[in-house]
Amino acid sequence: NLQDKLDRAFKVLKGQGSISEINVAETIKEIRKALLDADVNYKTAKAFTDEVKEKALGQNVLTSVSPGQLLTKIMNDELALLMGGTVTELELTGNPTVILIAGLNGAGKTTFSGKLANFLKTQKGKKPLLVAGDVYRPAAIDQLQVLGEQIGVPVYANLESKDPIAIAEEGVAEAKRNGNSVVIIDTAGRLAIDEALMTEISAVRDATKPHEILFVVDAMTGQDAVNTAKIFNERLDYTGVVLTKLDGDTRGGAALSIKSVVNKPIKFIGTGEKMEALDVFHPDRMASRILGMGDVISLVERAQQQFDEEKAAQLQKKIRKNKFDFNDFISQIQQIKKMGNMKDLMGMIPGAGKAMKDIEIEDDAFKPIEAIIHSMTPYERENPDVINQSRRQRIAKGAGTDLQEVNKLMKQFNDMRKVMKQFSNPAAAAKLMKNMP
Ligand code: GDP
Ligand code: MG
Repeated sequence: NLQDKLDRAFKVLKGQGSISEINVAETIKEIRKALLDADVNYKTAKAFTDEVKEKALGQNVLTSVSPGQLLTKIMNDELALLMGGTVTELELTGNPTVILIAGLNGAGKTTFSGKLANFLKTQKGKKPLLVAGDVYRPAAIDQLQVLGEQIGVPVYANLESKDPIAIAEEGVAEAKRNGNSVVIIDTAGRLAIDEALMTEISAVRDATKPHEILFVVDAMTGQDAVNTAKIFNERLDYTGVVLTKLDGDTRGGAALSIKSVVNKPIKFIGTGEKMEALDVFHPDRMASRILGMGDVISLVERAQQQFDEEKAAQLQKKIRKNKFDFNDFISQIQQIKKMGNMKDLMGMIPGAGKAMKDIEIEDDAFKPIEAIIHSMTPYERENPDVINQSRRQRIAKGAGTDLQEVNKLMKQFNDMRKVMKQFSNPAAAAKLMKNMP
């Protein structure tokens, strides 16, 4: 399933300290496979991965976050775009506005009808009327009436009639009489898509000319959700999608495919059985939910805010000339410290939260590193390549640590320098690109 594939793809990223051609290529390949398997069409999937690749390689890797986190942020932004980019509001200009609710049995139509009425009443200052259009199950009318009472919204029902088209028309007429500004028509579903259901709901649509037709689908049904969305869209040409049951563990991979397969915006998500458990759909939030990367996004944003662009440009120049030295290294550490309490930051990284229980991370986690760098002479700091074994011995002694620690830092520093060099050199970046899928 999509989630497993994404999980696999992101396992490579999580905990990786640096972007290498291997983990970028692997991750992007997995993402593309996952998108294709989830029915996202090839062109969209290709455009998506190309965009991520380009942005990843063009990004300044000198911000105070790991390249893996940066790549995650890029991925997040692109996924959000794939899901429509921005919030799509309801069209509420009708007088009254008619909203038709469609979908299979058990998708959550009746529950959503109640939630939407409640949302429009409490958040938008509307005066909604609910219409009980599911005539096949007597309990369905009851269910809507109970919800209506609970949220203080009137419900139009006609227990005598078995004609959903007539009931819908009566409902709209009732709304006009009573001055209701929005009419929400709940309809019957079927266990599977059939001709009778489609014909009936199309007839209700033609009779009531809704401003919005919202297709409600259970997010837990995964690929089926996408297929159902496609078929309903072909017949109804709906205006928006509602993903229900996105509470619990469902991470919403369906959201990705639905938007790109039917090209209709997701407008709401249901996150529980209660009337308040409704959220306006935010593509960016769903993206980070799908990535399952906790609050990495805000970590990256915070880091980017702190990042001094001018300094970055200077640094970039030095790296290009392979002049990145320990003074720059120290100033990078200061950047990270500026971002705030280490513990706070660690807490934002998924997986790290758990580790925190075992290890107390001190705010001065960088102290040993700083001590070593401060034990270097200014000449050594500016010319890291002169630091040979005997200099390392002296530095270790000065910093009150052992040679091993100094060697470790030297290795980290050199690795970092290598990666930075690769990313600042267009030729090397191009070579990286070639190795990607
Ligand atoms: P309908 O047949 O499409 O009208 O579906 P219902 O509205 O009757 O909902 C079917 C079941 O799903 C009910 O038990 C609802 O309480 C439940 N349900 C609906 N939306 C959600 C949701 O967002 N989260 C959860 N956990 N349950 C939901
Ligand atoms: Mg129902």
